[in-house]
Amino acid sequence: MPNFIDVILPIPLEKLFTYSITEAEANFLKSGMRVSVPFGKSKIYTAIVHSIHNTAPVVYEAKDIHQILDETPVVTQTQLQHWHWISRYYMCSVGEVMRAALPSAFLLESETIITKNKDRIVNDEDLKDDEFLVYEALHHQSSLKIQDLMSILDKKNVLPVIKRLLEKNAITVEEEIYEKYKPKLVRYVKLHSSFSSEKALQNLLEELGRAHKQKEVVLALFSISAQTKKPVKVSDLTNQSGASSTIVKALIDKGILEEYFIQTDRVQYEGEENESSKQLNEHQEKALEQIEESFQSQNITLLHGVTSSGKTEIYVKLIEEVLKQNKQVLYLLPEIALTTQLVDRLQNYFGEQVSVFHSKYSVNERVEVWNNMLDNSPKAQVILGARSSVLLPFHNLGLIIVDEEHEQSYKQFDPAPRYHARDTAIVLANMFKAKTLLGSATPSLESYYNVMQNKYGFVELNQRYNNVMMPDVELVDIKDKHKRKRMNGHFSDRMIEEMTETLEEGHQIILFQNRRGFSPIVECNTCGHSPQCPNCDVSLTFHQYKNELRCHYCGYHMAMQQQCQACGSVEIDSKGFGTEQVEEEVKALFPNHKVARMDLDTTRGKYGYEKIITALEQQEIDILVGTQMLTKGLDFRNVKLVGIMNADNMLNFPDFRAHERSFQLMLQVAGRAGRTDKRGKVLIQTYNPYHRILQQVSTNNYVEMFNEQMNDRHNYKYPPLYRLIKITLKHRDFNKVNFAADWYTKSLRQVFRDNVLGPEFPPVSRIRNLYHKNILVKIPPKQSLSKTKEAIIKINNSFQSVKDFRPVRVVLNVDNY
Ligand code: ADP
Ligand code: ZN
Ligand code: ZN
Repeated sequence: MPNFIDVILPIPLEKLFTYSITEAEANFLKSGMRVSVPFGKSKIYTAIVHSIHNTAPVVYEAKDIHQILDETPVVTQTQLQHWHWISRYYMCSVGEVMRAALPSAFLLESETIITKNKDRIVNDEDLKDDEFLVYEALHHQSSLKIQDLMSILDKKNVLPVIKRLLEKNAITVEEEIYEKYKPKLVRYVKLHSSFSSEKALQNLLEELGRAHKQKEVVLALFSISAQTKKPVKVSDLTNQSGASSTIVKALIDKGILEEYFIQTDRVQYEGEENESSKQLNEHQEKALEQIEESFQSQNITLLHGVTSSGKTEIYVKLIEEVLKQNKQVLYLLPEIALTTQLVDRLQNYFGEQVSVFHSKYSVNERVEVWNNMLDNSPKAQVILGARSSVLLPFHNLGLIIVDEEHEQSYKQFDPAPRYHARDTAIVLANMFKAKTLLGSATPSLESYYNVMQNKYGFVELNQRYNNVMMPDVELVDIKDKHKRKRMNGHFSDRMIEEMTETLEEGHQIILFQNRRGFSPIVECNTCGHSPQCPNCDVSLTFHQYKNELRCHYCGYHMAMQQQCQACGSVEIDSKGFGTEQVEEEVKALFPNHKVARMDLDTTRGKYGYEKIITALEQQEIDILVGTQMLTKGLDFRNVKLVGIMNADNMLNFPDFRAHERSFQLMLQVAGRAGRTDKRGKVLIQTYNPYHRILQQVSTNNYVEMFNEQMNDRHNYKYPPLYRLIKITLKHRDFNKVNFAADWYTKSLRQVFRDNVLGPEFPPVSRIRNLYHKNILVKIPPKQSLSKTKEAIIKINNSFQSVKDFRPVRVVLNVDNY
């Protein structure tokens, strides 16, 4: 009987693909293993085996697979099921989910490797110039790829050169699939076995008597191994003895020491003994009991706990319980809240059982977490991670905690799968019959609405830990201040007073400005021209630090202009302001204090963010200026004043969630103030102090905000009452996008009538040279979600079958945020 497998390929095509395999392969292969397969004319892909069967495909002849890459599955059956759900719900291919889930090292690459033929020496005179260049390069590098050759020879067509070199027997080539993941090897040393007898050792030490340094190394080796009774790392040895690695090497060369290598984990916890968790106060205790009670009848519970109420300590207690039942915990956090502060805190409690999965981690570190999870290793019992950690291979999940559940960064924007990690986590938890706890000081309307509908359980925690008071919020009317000339740059007299006082008392200040860069937009005072990005339909922003104009969408940049490009006037002015300008002004206002800035520009690199946080913790910074990065669950002892420089640019943002988000953002930043005994102060500068949201922020009135916003959402038919699917069409040609969008919208209207909005150009309608146009489909509460998606897919298929529309890219975004 012929044997076949259906595989998932990491590409945006809907279907599974069938390949032919031998009887022996059929006996060996299991669903979830990787195979490499040919695809199209010349491509090789890594695919995941979905199923093994005997049915030949009808419309094409099944090709053979190239090779089996695993001995055991690297993807679990639950994951496959979960991937299918994501692909159906978020309207993307399973292959796209696979690409997002697997660490890139698992997606092997096919590349031609060129090496020198070692069996033959070729005389330089026998080689043409281009051949010589390649051959010469192979003296310095053991292997080259096609790409390398292209850059060495500075041309694309390098195959003829390879062919000639092959004919001259100068090189060999192989089409090789290789693993990118290399376990880290650690170098260890021990005393050579010939010195294992006491006598031999004695002699050795006498002999070394003259070589002091070497003797110290040998003695240090003894003392370390006596203390730890474990293999001794070379690095420990050099640290302890103070000797350089050259001395160690000399001892190895002499045959006194022997070196060896052990494969180790990169993601190793190096802490001390575990600390026991904190005793909860009465409020926390009560909340914990209520959560446990709620879990009796509900799978999902929302914990609404004000900032600094001690939610984390409650999570810790829940985690302890789940670990006792030998089940795993997933602790989800927004990417930038995943700080060493929190990782350390959890590692102190749970030690080695914690694995962290973070986009700033290297590929190798991620592979290690994945493999540990596949093995259900003791190291992978508490997974602490950002969005993509919902895609990991769990074994027996007992609890998922989604902290800061309101955070919009849980929704993936680009590329597909455009999934929401909170919602995807809930589905994952269901597969394991596990519980989900959502936590936030400012819950999303979605989750709070689900509580109102009795879909989720609900627990509240209104007391800050240690009964610290909620900060005092004061609104400053800057329209009035401008009129009465009480502004100094962007600082009102109230702001300066409070800052002066705070600094005099020796406390710290956080200033929040929801924009990075110096002054986002540069404008000519004479003609009104402002420099635009040539690729995107957006103004360039001014970055003072580099004195350049940059596009925040595509990265295009140019030097700051001295004169207006349009009219030549030298009166160029800056409108609006960003973190950089705030920083400049603060430095001028408070020249004797240390000022730092935290935004995307200052926090690149693995530890960029951590460095600033540590500096603030250690009080090396008096005033920290930052963007919304500041809002994420940070716990600073000494910050007393939080200043929000301008509330209006948040409130006026063109998005139906702008008000909800402003409320969340402001309350979260405010929550950084006064976390200990001193009551914190929050100053909000605004042109519109009577704005409902600002009133609600100043009285910390979530319920009122919820009710009013829900009213709006009801009137305008928005989530959480209606669901949204956003369809974006993209193309270089303006007319084509327009035409395509009209066609698409018309087809949608035939099915969904008034519940189709658009087509509409977004505020920035051209990005990286592509015009974007959006269509919004609103789905009323009672309308079937799956039927709606089916109808959209049908329209999408007819759209794609029109030849003229084929080059138009279509992006479907379900539950668009
Ligand atoms: P939240 O996450 O609700 O904003 P945290 O969990 O960060 O609050 O707690 C705020 C502060 O209070 C932290 O510094 C934490 O260590 C401390 N804390 C909370 N609960 C306790 C407790 N039971 N015992 C001692 N300290 C606690
Ligand atoms: Zn001008
Ligand atoms: Zn651009």
